[in-house]
Amino acid sequence: MTGAPSLKKVALVGIGKIAIDQHVPALAASPVWQLEATVSRSGRVEGVAAYDDFERLLEERPDIEVVSLCLPPVPRFDYAAQALKAGRHVMLEKPPGATLSECHELEALARRQGVALYASWHSREAACVREAKRWLADKTLHRLQVTWKEDVRRWHPGQDWIWQPGGLGVFDPGINALSILTEIAPEALHLNAAHLLVPSNRQTPIAAQLQFQAASGAAVSADFDWRQEGEQIWTIAIETDAGNLTLLEGGARMVVDGAEIDTSAEAPLGDEYPRLYANMAALVSTGSIDMDLAPLRHVADAFTLGERRLVAAFDW
Ligand code: NAP
Repeated sequence: MTGAPSLKKVALVGIGKIAIDQHVPALAASPVWQLEATVSRSGRVEGVAAYDDFERLLEERPDIEVVSLCLPPVPRFDYAAQALKAGRHVMLEKPPGATLSECHELEALARRQGVALYASWHSREAACVREAKRWLADKTLHRLQVTWKEDVRRWHPGQDWIWQPGGLGVFDPGINALSILTEIAPEALHLNAAHLLVPSNRQTPIAAQLQFQAASGAAVSADFDWRQEGEQIWTIAIETDAGNLTLLEGGARMVVDGAEIDTSAEAPLGDEYPRLYANMAALVSTGSIDMDLAPLRHVADAFTLGERRLVAAFDW
C-alpha cells in the first residue's frame, strides 16, 4: 500500500506585501506545499511557526527543505547564500538579485551544494505568455512596443527601498515586462539607448524609455512610467510579417489581429504564483537550477548606458 505523497515543507522569508498577497494563498491552495514557518522582523501568518532569526530557523528546522525569499533585492543575497550553504533549495522573488554578479555567485553555490535554485519571474506565468510565445515563434518582428505605466503610490505605498540603490525604481515593475519580452521575442535583442528620469530627491528612476536593437531591424522599445494616474497600462503591442499581437493587462489577455484569444485551457493552475510553485516543486524534485538573468541584464544595461535626467522631487 502506498501512502499519500509527503508535502514539501517551505519557509517564507520577508512577510511583506507580496508574501501576504500571493505566496501565502498560493501555498495554502497547493496540494504539494506546506507552509511550515515564516521569518520576519514584523510580519507573521496565523497558525504558522514564526521566527525572527533566519539562522535559528536553519538550525532548528532541518526538516524544512525549501526557503522562499520574498525580501526586496538588496537584503536578499545574504539570506539566499546562507540558505544554500545550509543545503536548502531556494526560490527567489523577482528580480533575483540587486546585481548580476551576486546572482552568478548564488548559481555557482547552488551547483556546488547540489540543490535547486529558482529565479522566479511571475509575469512569465501570466495566462497568455506561453501562447504568445508559440504564436510569435515562426514570425518576423516589424515593431514591438512595451508600455508599462502604473501609479507608484497605488502599488508600492510607503516602500522606500524602491527609491534606494538596488531598489530599481520603475524597473521594479518594468522588469516584469522585460521578463515577458525575453521569453517571447523570436530573436535576440540588446539595449542600445535609454533615458532614465530620476526624481531630484531619489536614487532610482520614476520613468524610463528604452530602445533595443534587433537583428531583423525591427523597432523595439519600452516605455515605463510610475506617474500614471487613472487607467493603468501593462501592454506589449507587436507587429509582425504575418499579423499583429497585443498582450494586455500584463499578459493576462491577448488579442491577435483584433480578435481576443481564449487561453483559459492553458492555465489549469489559474494564477501566476501557483504556477511558480509548481515550477519550484519540479526543480526541487530533480535538484535543478532555473536562473535566467536576461531581464536583469537589460536593466543593468539601462543603468550602464542610460542618459539620466533629473525630474520633480517625489514624495508619498
Ligand atoms: P515589502 O513588502 O516592502 O517587503 C517585503 C519584506 O521584506 C518586508 O515585509 C520586510 O519583512 C522584509 N525586508 C524589507 N527590507 C528588509 C531588510 N533590509 N532586511 C531584511 N528584511 C527586509 O516588499 P514586497 O512588495 O513584498 O516586495 C518584495 C519582493 O517581491 C521585491 O523584490 C518585489 O519586486 C517582489 N514583488 C512584489 C510585488 C508587489 O506587488 N508588491 C509583486 C511581485 C513581486 P520584515 O520587516 O517583516 O522582516
